[in-house]
Amino acid sequence: MKYQSTRGKVKGISFKQAVMMGLAEDGGLLLPETIPHLTPGDLDVLSKLAYPELAFQVMSHFIEDIPSAQLKNMIDHSYSSFTHPDITPVVHHDGLYILELFHGPTLAFKDIALQFLGNLFEYLLTESGEHMNILGATSGDTGSAAIYGVRGKKNINIFILHPHKKVSPVQELQMTTVTDANVFNLAIEGTFDDGQKIVKEIFGDLNFKRQYALGAVNSINWARVLAQVVYYFYAWGQVRKQTGADKVYFSVPTGNFGDIFAGYIAKRMGLPIEKLVLATNANNILARFVNAGDYSIGEVHPTFSPSMDIQNASNLERYLFYLFNDDSERLTAAMQQFTDMGQISFTEEQLADISEVFLSTSVDNDQTLATIRDFHAATGYVLDPHTATGIKAGKELVGGEYPVICLATAHPAKFPEAVNQSIGKDPEPPVSLEGLEDREQRCEVIEANADKIKMYLAKRAL
Ligand SMILES: *Cc1c(COP(=O)(O)O)cnc(C)c1O
Repeated sequence: MKYQSTRGKVKGISFKQAVMMGLAEDGGLLLPETIPHLTPGDLDVLSKLAYPELAFQVMSHFIEDIPSAQLKNMIDHSYSSFTHPDITPVVHHDGLYILELFHGPTLAFKDIALQFLGNLFEYLLTESGEHMNILGATSGDTGSAAIYGVRGKKNINIFILHPHKKVSPVQELQMTTVTDANVFNLAIEGTFDDGQKIVKEIFGDLNFKRQYALGAVNSINWARVLAQVVYYFYAWGQVRKQTGADKVYFSVPTGNFGDIFAGYIAKRMGLPIEKLVLATNANNILARFVNAGDYSIGEVHPTFSPSMDIQNASNLERYLFYLFNDDSERLTAAMQQFTDMGQISFTEEQLADISEVFLSTSVDNDQTLATIRDFHAATGYVLDPHTATGIKAGKELVGGEYPVICLATAHPAKFPEAVNQSIGKDPEPPVSLEGLEDREQRCEVIEANADKIKMYLAKRAL
């Protein structure tokens, strides 16, 4: 399997090269040159596998340049840090199937990709004798998951930008209490979108990128998307076993379009997904995109689901590449239009293609709290505010002809304020959060300015 850039100037590179490159050198995002198609027979076989074995089988379709034994080791090691024996269990409440993706070390779905990516980087760097300085921006959950993915690992330093005081206290503590010498937390005076823009800008300076061997952990890294494709297969298999249904809907709380794009890849591989429900919070650019072809940037509104407070969904470019029939020139022109005018326009035909695959709605703060409250009253199950947007969207948009699988993207204990406002009590904290606020912390507040951040990094890089 070879990889290409959405912008058309990088082609024929290997999986390993794609992982190390992160953002493509022409400014685009990397995609496999073809998407493998699985038969119903293949799907049957996959549906009987335990999670790590399933991950190995699914990922092997996209990875040719790592020996099987090593890949298998890495996968097994990555998921041994999860506290649930099924890794991503599926539970059934109130007519919905909930895919719990929060049993990793930082209690959000991002651990699934980042535990793997940390081990993958370590393997590739040991093999090549090189080192890497990871630079990433986080809206809250990526940062801690990435830090936990690489803390203490040899040949890797990690620099994570988070928007100062705009992440939840638990999210902040999960990052700043990791005091391993290879971990650098930077609180920028700006929004997540500012952080993401700075990271893109620094990666765009190819001399700087090469000089400091920058590596990416944001969902612009293909390996993250790939690791997330796996649980769509897993959940489908579990729900088919429980219901006999062959087709399903997935409802996905969405910010950067990474998670739902993994579902799109699973669908293209032949997984019987009727449609993908894209749930946003008040930052509704993607809901406007799906429902009206209106992809125009708005202000970032802080909400109860901060990991979805995004207006510029970096992974949408991957989907747009397919929507434009793999035409990298048209895609490049559209991305330029977005940079220049803050919006992209679509044809009627493209709109029809989008609604073949996606349904979408935006769920505001009040609806989020009401959903947590009502779901708890009906079932006793406590939703986190991100998951609640997906539950609400799934209930509202899908009629019941096929099961709806809602992705539970975070443990409720990560967002106790919103949960408490909804149900009048704090969620039960899991063991990993005990005593967090008493631990030593390390973090630096810094201006949201690419040059300042480059200077900081240059002084501390490997
Ligand atoms: C990151 C995140 C999301 C959004 O995922 P994307 O891949 O950015 O769309 C949703 N919920 C939680 C809890 C997250 O951490």
